[in-house]
Amino acid sequence: MARTALVTGITGQDGAYLAQLLVSKGYKVHGLVRRSSHAEVHFHRLQWLGVENDVEFHDGDLTDLSSLSRLVRQLQPDEVYNLAAQSFVKASWQQPLLTTAVTGTGVANILEAVRLEAPGARFYQASSSEMFGLIQAAEQNEKTPFYPRSPYAVAKLYGHWLTVNYRESFGLHASSGILFNHESPLRGLEFVTRKVTDGAARIKLGMASMLEMGNLDATRDWGHARDYVDAMWRMLQQDVADDYVVATGRTISVRELCRLAFAQVGLDYQDHVRLAEQFMRPAEVDVLLGDPSKARDKLGWTPSTSFEDMIAEMVEADLARHGKGAGK
Ligand code: NDP
Ligand code: GDP
Repeated sequence: MARTALVTGITGQDGAYLAQLLVSKGYKVHGLVRRSSHAEVHFHRLQWLGVENDVEFHDGDLTDLSSLSRLVRQLQPDEVYNLAAQSFVKASWQQPLLTTAVTGTGVANILEAVRLEAPGARFYQASSSEMFGLIQAAEQNEKTPFYPRSPYAVAKLYGHWLTVNYRESFGLHASSGILFNHESPLRGLEFVTRKVTDGAARIKLGMASMLEMGNLDATRDWGHARDYVDAMWRMLQQDVADDYVVATGRTISVRELCRLAFAQVGLDYQDHVRLAEQFMRPAEVDVLLGDPSKARDKLGWTPSTSFEDMIAEMVEADLARHGKGAGK
């Protein structure tokens, strides 16, 4: 019999790639979807990957425990992937309580629904390298102490520890993936990689001339979302639930990202990028660099896409979206 998976956050970047992966493995995939007045664009990522019709959608919200309980009771899923979140760090300073309710307390809601309605289900929590924040070790692994630097990271830390606690308290098969930044052509436009690849494409096509940016000196360990959802799935195939860092082991600056993306369209970023105060943050995460040894050794997981290839793919997709074919 086909295995059943419930994915929250299915309309997001990772939800779309995970749905594609699970469908390819023969799962019956169910997605939690919150109500939107823009239903026509809600499923654009799943459409882009060609899996919209392979997923069954259910109304609900991570802040509404009753909607989650009913759904988990009805579906009795084998696997539950909790990807839903207010996921943009910068917005978490403007909406700290919403971020707490969705990204933090929302994890308690879905864990409760699983514990009470389908305690045998395997559970994945989308934790984040942002929890390392003001880094306490040059390379961050599962044992590195956390030091969150934003309301988002504080909320993620709550979700992470609650996942660990439900595993230890109730014996749930609950795993937390501490994923470093991962990107793709389906990344939201507000995140720095997509903002830069889209900006470079628009400038190349004469639709804009300048791109306003924040801190160009921040560095991140960036991988491809398609690779990272595979790590999520591998975690839930283990006999024993555990926590894993998922990263590439390489850190690259926002400045280098700009250089590469603009070079991809034959331009010099220094002619088109200018700094703007509004994109600076009240507290910054200067550097992130993950050590994915445990995921490699225990899950057999390694990233398959280089940063350079990923940025090239994203620039080409943005050029195509804006109406012209690929190329410099
Ligand atoms: P996205 O922002 O692309 O997707 C977030 C998803 O959560 C969307 O489907 C959104 O729905 C949904 N959502 C938001 N609020 C609610 C709510 N109240 N109830 C139900 N659903 C809700 O994020 P990503 O796909 O990039 O990330 C997936 C998860 O991984 C997130 O939890 C994120 O914080 C975490 N993460 C991401 C990293 C990355 O680099 N991408 C790194 C580490 C962790 P809607 O479409 O309606 O807005
Ligand atoms: P985050 O790591 O989850 O916060 O992912 P983002 O893609 O939003 O930001 C990554 C880094 O890029 C952070 O250190 C930001 O301060 C930096 N950055 C610099 N300029 C910008 C910008 O214009 N937009 C965003 N989103 N980030 C920027």
